[in-house]
Amino acid sequence: MSFDGLPPLREVIRAHGLFAKKALGQNFLFDLNLTAKIARSAGGLEGVTVIEVGPGPGGLTRALLSEGASKVIAIERDERCLSALAEISERYPGRLEVIPGDALKTDFAALVAGVSPVKIVANLPYNVGTELLVRWLTVEPWPPFYESLTLMFQREVAERIVAQPGDSSYGRLGVLAGWRTEARIVFDVPPQAFTPPPKVTSSVVHIVPRTNPLPVDGARLARVTEAAFGQRRKMLRQSLKSLGGEALLEKAGIDPTRRAETLSIEEFVRLAQCI
Ligand code: SAM
Repeated sequence: MSFDGLPPLREVIRAHGLFAKKALGQNFLFDLNLTAKIARSAGGLEGVTVIEVGPGPGGLTRALLSEGASKVIAIERDERCLSALAEISERYPGRLEVIPGDALKTDFAALVAGVSPVKIVANLPYNVGTELLVRWLTVEPWPPFYESLTLMFQREVAERIVAQPGDSSYGRLGVLAGWRTEARIVFDVPPQAFTPPPKVTSSVVHIVPRTNPLPVDGARLARVTEAAFGQRRKMLRQSLKSLGGEALLEKAGIDPTRRAETLSIEEFVRLAQCI
């Protein structure tokens, strides 16, 4: 038995036949001390409704509940996990809602309409992690429906999220995250903490929305950063040709011979406002 009276995760996996499927980005965490550390990185959870994407066998779910989340709404695509999650629901009556389905097809804001505060905490499947993050960063209205995001990514993706102008990993993710949020890497998790171990180190990132980000349409900002970083070694007059090239840069007051990685977030916002 574990601290919460439920069986250890290795036993859960065996009992429910949950061998990991690569196509679903399944790298499970079995160490309940580690899942508790991730849950605590989200700040206090007392009275908080948590959205979790991909609970799998429920290691992080159990930590979120034992750390005091008033409710966890968990979206899981793999039906094999549902019976294991049902045992957690029984242990925490009325506090775990499992939604079978694809997180990419989920309207997260609608799930928690009228509910506050909400935090999103997840050990994300790597194949959909970036896509979900971009959606959460570009959601309307702002401030968003969530108070914070506490998410596990591959270290390399985490570095792109927190990157500053001039960093080699500065790009679309860094601009979107820096524009609307304050993001920081909380700690690294080595491959051997997962079953099966991924090839690379992972990091937990904590992201808090800014209340008053510079006003600009997120879709436009995404377009301009995509174009600029799509050809990151080229001068902006070349990489932004399809969006107006030199005329656009002149309107925004930006030297057309500069390269994307030298532009501050404010300058990207100015460009997006001008297209
Ligand atoms: N939270 C568990 C843990 O920490 O051990 C599992 C994490 S594992 C990295 C990712 C989980 O996301 C898997 O359980 C997988 O089945 C689920 N998943 C993959 N794609 C998904 C999707 N599109 N929507 C919802 N869940 C998904």
